[in-house]
Amino acid sequence: MRLRRRKAEPRRAPRPNYMAIAVLEHALFGIQPEPGTAAALTIALRQVGACMTHRPVETTTLGQLPQALCTRCGKSMIQGDDGTWEMA
Ligand SMILES: [Zn+2]
Repeated sequence: MRLRRRKAEPRRAPRPNYMAIAVLEHALFGIQPEPGTAAALTIALRQVGACMTHRPVETTTLGQLPQALCTRCGKSMIQGDDGTWEMA
């Protein structure tokens, strides 16, 4: 009897987070998201400061200390000595 080797499942490419991209576009470039989208809601929630858990996205450029921007509340964050993100 000949054993068949299982075909390896093709790896799926990670899907881009369009909401996070739209929120960052608003924070960095002032581009308004389409009304009624999750990004528009997130930005509206920012106005009232509702952020239960920060979701930092690193915005560090070459030669800078590690910096991030929370995609939910838009606040600046810095990386602490233990590698966790803290409010700047
Ligand atoms: Zn936040």
